[in-house]
Amino acid sequence: MDVPADDDPFEEQRERTANPMRRLFAAYGEERRGVFAVGVVASILARVLDLLPPLLLGIAVDAIFLDEGPFDLPLVPGRWLPTDPERQFWLIVGIVLVSYLGGAALHWVRNWGWNRFAQYVQHAIRTDTYDAMQRLNMTFFADKQTGEMMSVLSNDVNRLERFLNDGLNAAFRLGVMVIGIAAILLWMNPQLAVVALLPVPLIAVFTYRFVETIQPKYAEVRSTVGQVNSRLENNLGGIQVIKTSSTEGYEADRVEEVSGDYFDANWDAIETRIKFFPGLRVLAGIGFALTFTIGGLWVFRGEGPWLFTGTLRPGEFVAFILYTQRFIWPMAQFGQIINMYQRAYASAARIFGLMDEDAGIDEATDAAELAVTDGRVEYDDVTFGYEEAPILDGVSFEAGGGETVALVGPTGAGKSTALKLLLRMYDVDEGAVRVDGTDVREVTLASLRGAIGYVSQETFLFYGTVRENITYGTFGADDEEVEAAAAAAEAHEFVTNLPDGYDTMVGERGVKLSGGQRQRLAIARAMLKDPEILILDEATSDVDTETEMLIQRSLDRLTADRTTFVIAHRLSTVKDADGIVVLDDGEVVERGTHEELLAADGLYASLWGVQAGEIDALPAEFVERATERGARADVDADLDD
Ligand code: ADP
Repeated sequence: MDVPADDDPFEEQRERTANPMRRLFAAYGEERRGVFAVGVVASILARVLDLLPPLLLGIAVDAIFLDEGPFDLPLVPGRWLPTDPERQFWLIVGIVLVSYLGGAALHWVRNWGWNRFAQYVQHAIRTDTYDAMQRLNMTFFADKQTGEMMSVLSNDVNRLERFLNDGLNAAFRLGVMVIGIAAILLWMNPQLAVVALLPVPLIAVFTYRFVETIQPKYAEVRSTVGQVNSRLENNLGGIQVIKTSSTEGYEADRVEEVSGDYFDANWDAIETRIKFFPGLRVLAGIGFALTFTIGGLWVFRGEGPWLFTGTLRPGEFVAFILYTQRFIWPMAQFGQIINMYQRAYASAARIFGLMDEDAGIDEATDAAELAVTDGRVEYDDVTFGYEEAPILDGVSFEAGGGETVALVGPTGAGKSTALKLLLRMYDVDEGAVRVDGTDVREVTLASLRGAIGYVSQETFLFYGTVRENITYGTFGADDEEVEAAAAAAEAHEFVTNLPDGYDTMVGERGVKLSGGQRQRLAIARAMLKDPEILILDEATSDVDTETEMLIQRSLDRLTADRTTFVIAHRLSTVKDADGIVVLDDGEVVERGTHEELLAADGLYASLWGVQAGEIDALPAEFVERATERGARADVDADLDD
């Protein structure tokens, strides 16, 4: 009832999952049914023991104190019971004591069972969901924000946990309580029981309505507090801009505005919330007053008032009053339980929807291991688009074993896209990409990606030691191999100068490394992996000349003797390549060696001219196209927001 369907990024996944709760229990509950059963049984027994004392008290009042009835206990044969009132009294005391102690033990067992079950399930679901998620193709990740995926892995999983832990537990407790009390009251006096139980459905409806009203208000509170936090975070992050633009007043107003929204939303929720308990008290009070009045008159007059007939003993009356007080507060949770269930239902639907998501890149059932012999890579008339529009259109080129081929061309031409097809991050729409004559779609993903090293301009380091980052993917490497790889990547020297050398923590929360240092670690990682085929995606941008020289030197070592594709904006870094493929707008427009392409005087020659500083000498047509492209890139960037 509270899940805002329209802004749920996983609406599609949620909607196509039928019966998620049943599946939750079938898939995860089944194997944990032992602990589940412990929880359920202990829950029921604990409640039953809870219900004993008022009943015994009622019996004691009638049979022992007032001597108004026979001393018999439900379910216990009369001949087992003592006849002496004092011994009867001590028996009652004993049973009450035992029921309290037993109840305490059972509460412990119950919580153990429920919590254990909930923890098992949330752990299994989280790991399964993460694993399913990381196997999805890149289209999925491009489509979703990291925060949205995190939200499934944490919020949705936690909601399930909370429901299994608290919600289900409370539902059982409530069920046993209401059924147990109703049974006892009906057994003691069916007529008065009807009166005493009257508030139960009323309270159920009332609390359900309350939760239904307050949930959207809480959602609004969460959303406004989110806005306040992002505003504050954004402003504190951009404090320098605020100061230099002297916009403190403007920002203070903006913060006041979002904080005001939060205030309003919160107050709205508070106004509803503070009416709930008084309302509940009124309902409970009416029920109590009715029971007390009718029961009181009944005992007092010795016969049923109005329509009521038969007798009501004082002890029964006392038990009635005690019991009616018992179910009010558990009933107050009723709406909350329903709500927890609904949220858990939506969360389970999202989780299973995500697990069922088509991974996009399927391995053929008879996929073979890729065996690279020469390392020859061939793009054969490849057409591909992320969506409808083709990004690559009939692209063909190849790299012989051990050759270095550079892909050049303007931004957005499709260079990175072409290489992602080799890694099978996406599948071609038409044509084929082959390694040594084998279509990449016919081999296992692990063997394909295992044969390819990838170094990109954005080097991501995991939070961990330098060594862990270098051995990432080649976990078995020993220290000597790691150091040799680092030395070949021109990284050994700076690494040994770090506070803890190879054991220095880097990555998020770790020591900050410069772009050039990160890149050299990535090169070391690729060195260690020693792949047959290498992809360098703009591997030397954004570094100073000296670092570039170091990187270039390490790259020369890395690329020697293996098939390499290089994407580089700086053409000076690729002019010695064995072949250069010039892409423009998804098509191969020129190919050849540096000298051949300069002689051809086409797009490559123009690009080369720009980088050599001959801007004045550029053909007008080239400048015009570049401007157009710049404008298009801006539009793309806008769309990305
Ligand atoms: P290059 O590497 O030559 O700069 P790319 O291969 O990165 O070019 O991009 C080619 C085109 O594909 C661009 O228009 C870009 O906006 C688009 N593109 C790249 N990645 C995606 C993606 N994940 N989803 C949709 N479009 C994309």
